[in-house]
Amino acid sequence: MTLFVVAGALLLLGIAVAAVAWPLVQERRGPTAVELAEEALPAADPLVTLQAQRDSIYQAIRELRFDFQVGKVSETDYKVFDSTLRGNAAAVLQQIAALQQAEADPALNASLEAEIAALRHTNGSGPVQPVAAAAGAAALNFCPRCGQRVQAGNRFCGVCGASLS
Ligand SMILES: [Zn+2]
Repeated sequence: MTLFVVAGALLLLGIAVAAVAWPLVQERRGPTAVELAEEALPAADPLVTLQAQRDSIYQAIRELRFDFQVGKVSETDYKVFDSTLRGNAAAVLQQIAALQQAEADPALNASLEAEIAALRHTNGSGPVQPVAAAAGAAALNFCPRCGQRVQAGNRFCGVCGASLS
């Protein structure tokens, strides 16, 4: 029983110390963890930078929850800040997902680029089928034997008399 009370008192003391010490720690730290992470990794791999930002935001969410639990932050403020931080985390996660997808599947990007190029090609010079048909028609405008240009629809070459059918 006595042990339980002591343990409970120590637990309360620990929370009280944390609550008192927290503002001191925060003031001493100066910039937030997110700002520090951005400064520490200025020219690093963008994926690493994003992951550091994500971790910093998660850390900030945990710290905010703690501040709320010890009564340092009102429930209204907690909900606003928590929502903001979660929004930031989601944005960073989206960037990470996009980056990982691009790195993991370059074939997908290549096929997308090919698809875009194909769309542009179709828009710029018309569908493929009429172009092929025009090429076939153009081939028939020359005599296969002597190579002279002949009128489309002629059955025989006007120069050498070869059959054009
Ligand atoms: Zn001919």
